Amino acid sequence: MRSVDDLEVLGRRVLLRSDLNVPLDLTGTGEITDDGRIRASLPVISKLSDRGARVIILAHLGRPKGDSFAERAAGGPSLRPVAERLGDLLGRPVAFATDVVGESASKTVFSLGDEDVAVLENVRFEPAETSKDDAERGAFAQQLARFGELYVDDAFGAVHRKHASVYDLPALLPHAAGDLVRNELSVLRQLTSDPARPFVVVLGGKKPSDKLAVIEKLLDLADRILIGGGMGYTFLAAQGYEVGNSVLEADQIPAVKAVMEEAKRRGVELVLPVDLVAATHFAPDAEHSVVPVTAFPADREGVDAGPQTRALFAEKLADAKTVFWNGPVGVFEFPAFAAGTRAVAEAVARVDGLTVVGGGDSAAAVRVLGLDEGAFGHISTGGGASLEYLEGKTLPGLTALEDGS
Ligand code: ADP
Ligand code: MG
Repeated sequence: MRSVDDLEVLGRRVLLRSDLNVPLDLTGTGEITDDGRIRASLPVISKLSDRGARVIILAHLGRPKGDSFAERAAGGPSLRPVAERLGDLLGRPVAFATDVVGESASKTVFSLGDEDVAVLENVRFEPAETSKDDAERGAFAQQLARFGELYVDDAFGAVHRKHASVYDLPALLPHAAGDLVRNELSVLRQLTSDPARPFVVVLGGKKPSDKLAVIEKLLDLADRILIGGGMGYTFLAAQGYEVGNSVLEADQIPAVKAVMEEAKRRGVELVLPVDLVAATHFAPDAEHSVVPVTAFPADREGVDAGPQTRALFAEKLADAKTVFWNGPVGVFEFPAFAAGTRAVAEAVARVDGLTVVGGGDSAAAVRVLGLDEGAFGHISTGGGASLEYLEGKTLPGLTALEDGS
C-alpha cells in the first residue's frame, strides 16, 4: 500500500476521499455537533496542498434518500457547511461545487491552481455511489476519474464500503493510502497481534445486530467484555429480565444466548449492567429513575447505565492493559443520560496501556463530554470500519488500495 509520500503531487489534480461524515444536531438544525472527523482529515489535506497539489475532496454526509441526484440533493444533507468549517480550520479558502460530477464540479475542478482545495457536494447525492450494480458504480467512477490524475483514500470510516468513490475509483488512477488510514490500521494491528493483558472490551451503542459478529471474534482476543447501551437490553432479555420499552432486538436473542454460552466455554468474562436509568419516553427531559435490572418497569425505557453499573464497569476496566471501546452506554446526546458514557470514558482514560476508542458516536462522546482526547491512546474515526477489521473481514476500500499501482 503506497503512502502519500510516495506520490509526485506538485501541480497535479489529486482526488482525495476524506471522511467528513460529522454528526449533525439530532433536532434537525443542521448544526455540526462534533467536527472531530474534519480535524482528523486536515493533516493530509494540508500535506497535499503544501506540496503544490490541486486537492479535490470527495466525501459523504449521512444517508440521503431518493432515486436521483435532484431528489437526494433536495432532501440533504449538503456538505456546504462542512466545507465552510473545513476552510475555517484549514485557514485557507476552500472552493465548493454544488454537484458531484456535473457542471459545477467540472468548473470548480478545472479552475483550481496549485495548492488550491475544493470540496465536491455530498458524493452520496449520486445514487450510483452506493449502487450494488458494479457497472453503475463503475460508470460513475469513470466520471469522477476524469477530474483527477491521482487518488488518495484517507476516509478510514468508509473503507468497509464497496462504494464507487472508495472501491471503484482507485482502480482507475494511481493511488495511495492517506496518513489517517495508515495510522488507524497500525493501531488496529496492535490490538489484534498479541495485545497486553488483560484486554478489556466495552461495547455499547444501539443494536446488537450491528455488533454480534465482532463479539464472536473478540471472544478470541479479549479477556473481558463489558456490554451496555441499547444493545445491552437484548442481552438482559436473553437472561430473562424485563426490559420494558427499551431498544430490544428480540430476533437476536438466540444469537445473543449463543455468544453468552461461547464466552462461558472459553472463559471470557461477560459483564452486563446491574442497574439502569429508566425513562418514561425517549426525550431529553423525560422523567426518569434508577432501577435494578431485576425490577425494570414494563412501561419505561432504558436510557443509561445506573450508578452501580458505572462503578462496576470502572472496576472492570481498572486493571486493563489494553482497551477497545465501541459504542456509548447510554443516550449521551441528552445530557441527563450521559453519566454512564462519561463514567466509561473516564475509566478508559485512566487505564495505563493501549486504549482505543472506535466508533463515530463514541469518539464524538469523548469530545462532546469535554474529556481530554490526549488521555486516550487512539480515537478512531471509523466505527463500522474498525469493527469489520477486527472481525477479520476484507475491507473493499483497503483491497482497492493494495492492488496495482
Ligand atoms: P458508534 O458510532 O460509537 O459505533 P453506535 O452507532 O453503535 O456507536 O451507537 C451510538 C448510539 O447508540 C448513540 O446515538 C446513542 O444514543 C445510542 N444508544 C446508546 N444507549 C442507548 C439506549 N439505551 N437506548 C437507545 N439508544 C442508545
Ligand atoms: Mg454510530
